[in-house]
Amino acid sequence: MQAQARFVGRPAGPRPALHGHNHPLAIARVATVMELARLLGWLDADKLQASSEATFEQLAGFHTRRYLAALRRADALQQVEPAVRQLHNIGTLENPVFPGVFRQAALAVGGSILAADLALEGHLPFHPAGGTHHGRPDRASGFCYLNDPVFAIRRLLERGVDRVAYVDIDAHHGDGVEDAFATEARVRVLSIHEAGRWPHTGAEPGCGAGGAFNLPVPRGLNDSEFAWLLDEAILPRVEEFRPDAIVITCGADGLAGDPLAGMELSNLALWAAVDAIRALAPATVVLGGGGYNPWTVARCWTGLWGRLSGREVPATLPLDARALLSGLACDLVEEEEIRPEWISTLADEPRHGTIRPAVRDLAAALTTG
Ligand SMILES: [Zn+2]
Repeated sequence: MQAQARFVGRPAGPRPALHGHNHPLAIARVATVMELARLLGWLDADKLQASSEATFEQLAGFHTRRYLAALRRADALQQVEPAVRQLHNIGTLENPVFPGVFRQAALAVGGSILAADLALEGHLPFHPAGGTHHGRPDRASGFCYLNDPVFAIRRLLERGVDRVAYVDIDAHHGDGVEDAFATEARVRVLSIHEAGRWPHTGAEPGCGAGGAFNLPVPRGLNDSEFAWLLDEAILPRVEEFRPDAIVITCGADGLAGDPLAGMELSNLALWAAVDAIRALAPATVVLGGGGYNPWTVARCWTGLWGRLSGREVPATLPLDARALLSGLACDLVEEEEIRPEWISTLADEPRHGTIRPAVRDLAAALTTG
């Protein structure tokens, strides 16, 4: 039976505050995806499931109570003492404390727990607010306060799933998830990410902590290289594990035009990857992740939702959708860098290219362990 796609979104109510000025996440991402999907007629009420906040007790299943209390207090006071900043890495330029930060992070965790439940009930959940893969038990890291992919995986295990594969195609290494399951034989972690980027872990191709598989790819990765690595290295490693469920972090920062990464993928490459990965298990959870160009993020995740929910991606966008995309703004993308197709279409042109020797070597490293 074809799994029914479910969009895991926010509960009704006021839109959350963004990360504050001068922060890469000071852009509307999920709200734009939902609006765009609505304008395309792709977000029927029966497909939409609202997340609710994970409870403190649930969060304490992975995060330390001390950190959770500190984050909640910082949110309430909207200030952070130096010792707390030092200890938990909050109230920094990287991980600012903005109004509602605790609730927003807890909602992302609740959404990923819900997504895991939906996947086990035969649905195909897409939770674009999820994918905060850098969060640590006792501190924030890389714009991630909590770590919702960890909770999706834990939920699947708690509900009796024997083997979970975690595949991270965000442009950055999924370090928080890798470390969380370093001693868990029921979880296989794979991450493809740009070499030489923050957080600089996962830098060795092949096996990382606890048997995680890492593919640190050279700058400028094109669609041909990505597809090749998928076929030669990622899919075989997932398939041999025979996962009962797969969690995918589909960050959109590997797309050409992202201001914080140097990969050069089209959104077609990410959509095809999600399709191919999810074919390898009976249950899949699809999460968002990074993505700092509001146009490429909105188009990628809206199109991904369209694909997951069985829609035909139109060749060009209707006028109201173009107006929405035209109205976006981003400090990190210059006005003259905004490409006309970011306004008028959802699907990119494919970005084929030659498969460089360094990329071939990576696959070999993963094949030989
Ligand atoms: Zn990223």
